[in-house]
Amino acid sequence: MVKAAALAFALIFTSSCGLIGSLRPAPTIAPLISAAFLSVHLFVGDQGDAQERSRLPDLRDALAAALPNAWATATAGRGQLSLRTDGDIDVELDGTNGTSALTQHSSGGKVTSRKIAVHTVDGSRHLAVPELMATVLHELGHIWCCFGPGTKDGHWAETPTDFSSVGLMYSPMNCRASRGSDPICPSVFSERELAEMRLNGP
Ligand SMILES: [Zn+2]
Repeated sequence: MVKAAALAFALIFTSSCGLIGSLRPAPTIAPLISAAFLSVHLFVGDQGDAQERSRLPDLRDALAAALPNAWATATAGRGQLSLRTDGDIDVELDGTNGTSALTQHSSGGKVTSRKIAVHTVDGSRHLAVPELMATVLHELGHIWCCFGPGTKDGHWAETPTDFSSVGLMYSPMNCRASRGSDPICPSVFSERELAEMRLNGP
């Protein structure tokens, strides 16, 4: 008899991000927004085919309901996140296939605007809430992370081969999927990520 667990397989999270804008080398002025008290405007864009657009409001509501707790969990309880129309950062759910990214514009060494586009379609796959949540956390992490030794293009240079729920700033991210259930994706920033976000230690 074959155990159902044998059906588990590792799924590479290919909708890793593109970091436009951006961030390299290290910012000359530290971001002024704080991972300890972050506010996010999460909204639905008008892109995508009719089928995907019809999915976006529910995805938005599911993510919005879960994001404050997800941020607290991801930051080991050191960060708070609230949803506000007038947030620190705009996060748009885009119903087209594409590479999710944080885009930052700066002027005179200072970041003047930031926006995250989260694509809900990856190739032919319609991404599930856990994958989208990991993407949102990852892109938010890019506001602060990651620079310097051991990083490449905003991510850690090495790529883990095994699934771990800890460590959100890899590219690509590894999620774990089982047939018939939602994928499980990384959900907690590692200590070195929290250090870059200035959330190390209570
Ligand atoms: Zn990234």
